[in-house]
Parts: sequence; structure tokens; C-alpha cells
Amino acid sequence: MNLAVLGAQWGDEGKGKVVDLLTPNFDIVARYQGGHNAGHTVYVNGRKFVLRLIPSGMLHPGVVCVIGNGVVVDPTALFQEIDELMQAGIDVNGRLFVSGSAHLILPYHRDLDLLSEARRGERKIGTTSRGIGPAYEDKIARRGIRVGDLADPAGLDKNVRDNVNARNRLVHDSTMDADQVLARLLEQAERLRPLARDVSLMLNDAMRAGKRIMFEGAQGTLLDIDHGTYPFVTSSNATVGGACTGLGIGPRSVGAVMGVAKAYTTRVGEGPLPTELADDMGQRLRDSGNEYGAVTGRPRRCGWYDAVAVRYAARINGLDALALTKLDVLDGLPEIHICTAYRSGSRTLTEFPSDVALLAACEPVYETMPGWTRPTKGIRRFHDLPDAAKRYVARLEAVSGVSAAIISTGSDRSDTILREDIIHATLGSLTLQA
Ligand code: GDP
Repeated sequence: MNLAVLGAQWGDEGKGKVVDLLTPNFDIVARYQGGHNAGHTVYVNGRKFVLRLIPSGMLHPGVVCVIGNGVVVDPTALFQEIDELMQAGIDVNGRLFVSGSAHLILPYHRDLDLLSEARRGERKIGTTSRGIGPAYEDKIARRGIRVGDLADPAGLDKNVRDNVNARNRLVHDSTMDADQVLARLLEQAERLRPLARDVSLMLNDAMRAGKRIMFEGAQGTLLDIDHGTYPFVTSSNATVGGACTGLGIGPRSVGAVMGVAKAYTTRVGEGPLPTELADDMGQRLRDSGNEYGAVTGRPRRCGWYDAVAVRYAARINGLDALALTKLDVLDGLPEIHICTAYRSGSRTLTEFPSDVALLAACEPVYETMPGWTRPTKGIRRFHDLPDAAKRYVARLEAVSGVSAAIISTGSDRSDTILREDIIHATLGSLTLQA
């Protein structure tokens, strides 16, 4: 069976580590949305890798990695990442493929991103300004340039010139040189074209041949363009449907769905975050969880675990199981709160509101649990967790409506509890090994 691994909160849940850990069970790892705004940090034997565009599966020799049509690709960022991996001794050759239908991020997309964020002023979204939103805008407006277009220099010439000229008219004082954009792109085409494939065909052929695929989501459910806290969202479908549209596979091919959630909550950028702690406790979580963006270095907003949000993620994605990460960050706290519902005036809400203004006005309703003094950091068996930590996990599972098949107790691959009974019960025929 195949497995989708995606964010059940506002991103940065530790998907990189979970995908990396599970990769030996799969033949192919496929990214289906987002761009190089994602930043998966993976530690292997104490060595740090930050993967932005390339699936984390690349760190395992022999595993094929695929970037689907739903992803937007900045060739400069892609090549930089390939070069970094090659320098670290990871052979990317013959193992990385990019959909010919994936859209390209070009220099004018980055300019437009900065400009539109500046124009929003107070109402800014907090984007990473990497051109991702504008590249998706071009895709929807049907003027985007795709990886496959690099095979047709004449068509490319016209389309790039049209796009650059349109941007120059739009952006006051902009005199971006279409010749330069084209020259650079044609140079990059030499390196990108050999990676281009019909990814849908490739994956469906692989499945027919009995190969197993892991679908790797970027960002998180609450940042999904349709189901997230719009407009404070990313430009793509980070939820499970994105795996089908972003790769060209049928829904039954997805197999099981695992949501990754931290044992607390974080969010980067603007937008409502009901359990946010703007006090010392928020700073305590930020410091012990090292909650600073892997790509941008921006401090993340931190708060208690929000079970309303995770229940919503379970509903939207049909989650079979959770991977609960960063339990160790809560080590040493005298007590821990869990948000089980929201209060809005006299109303108690148990379902995540689709209306962002209502969400912004909601107050969390908390349950309080005792913390634990003995550290959980590095624990590998559920049995070895302090009793209070076991009870905390059990309560999170009960209020979230999903069981935690994996519990992560540190950033290293080996700091992980794999709960075989739950994996067996929730993921069926999917056997997983660390
Ligand atoms: P992603 O985008 O969802 O992959 O998340 P990030 O990579 O941005 O953030 C996860 C960060 O948390 C990385 O630095 C990981 O090494 C780290 N991490 C993952 N799991 C754990 C854990 O269980 N405990 C601790 N302390 N850190 C973790």
C-alpha cells in the first residue's frame, strides 16, 4: 500500500523527519505541491540537511524521487539543492525526475511577490517572497511556462517575452530585460530537460509493477488554499486531494493517509492562531522547539496543542493515523494545556470554523494535564515514556479522533517510537519499519 504524509497543522510539523524515517519502506517518494518555500530539516547521523524542493527521500540511496505537476519549480533553487546534495556525497543522478507539466518560477515571479506583499501593507500574508504565489497565479491564468515548454525554444521565446513585457507594464519603473531572462532560462533548460518525465505515467506504471510510493505533502492542512485559513494560506492544495491532482494518480492509489502534528502548535506568518501564547510560555516553546523557519529564519508563533484544528485536518484528509512530533519539547513543564473547543461569545464551537473572521474571534477552551519531569528526549519505546507523557498522548489521541502511530522524541531518525500495534490497526497492510 502507498502512503501520503502531510501536515495536520500550520506546516513545519516535522514532515521531513517522518518522510525520511519511513522512506526505506518505499520505492518512490513524490512531492505534489508547493515550491521551495517548504523547508524540511532532516538530521542523519548528526548531519543537517535542509530540503526545499527535492523530496526528503533523496537521502536514501536507491529511492527514486519525483516532483509532480502540482509543484512550482525555480530552476535556480533546484540546481542549488542538487549541487548541495552532490557535495554531501548524495548521488542524485538518475534518481530525480520532474514533471513536464510542472510550472516554472521565473525571476519576474519573485519581483511580483515582493511587490504584492508591499502593496498589501497591514494586510500582508507573510509569504516567503520566493515567487511561488505569482507562479501559481500564472498557472491559473493560463500563461504559465512549464518544464515541458523548454523543449520548444520558439514558443518559449514568445511566451517569456509576453510575460516579461506584461510585468514591465504592471510594475512601475520595472525594466526587466526579456533577453536576459530568456538567455538564463535556455541555459538552465540544458540541465532541466533531462530530468523531465510524464510523472503520472511513470507513477502509474510503477504501481502496476508493484512498487510502493510515499506522497510527501508540504506546508499543512490549515495553510491549504481551499481548506486553510484563507487568505492567510499558501497557493496550493496541501491536503490529500493535492496528491491526486498534483501527480496524476487516482484517489484509490493514495492508500493510507498519515497526518503529522506537533505535540503543540506553531504557525509562521500572519493569520489567526487560536492557541497562540504571546507570553513567556510561548517563548519557552519557541526556544526549546527551535521554532525558527528552516528557510527564512523567521520566529514561529507558538501555542498549545489545538485538537479542534487537528480534528478538522482528520476530516479534510481522512487521516488514518498521526505522527506526533516534538513531544520532548514539552519535557519539564509543570502542566500542559490542550485546546478541545473554541468559545465565541456565548457559543462553544467543537468544529473548526470555515469563516476566518469567526476563527480570529475565537478563544480556546483548555483542558489541563500534568507535565512530566523525566525527559522523553530520545525515548524509542512507548513503554519507556513517563506515565504523564503516556496520558498526555492518549488524551491528544482521544480529543483529536486519530491515533498516534509514530511518536517523535527528538530530531534524529533514531529518536522515534514506532507503535506497531497502532500501525497495524490503522494502516492495515502497510507494514512500516524504522
Ligand atoms: P517540516 O517542514 O514539516 O519538515 O518541518 P521542519 O523541518 O521545518 O521543522 C521540523 C524541525 O523540528 C526540524 O528542525 C526537525 O529536525 C525538528 N524535529 C522533528 N521532529 C522532532 C522532535 O521530535 N523533537 C525535536 N526536538 N525536534 C524535532
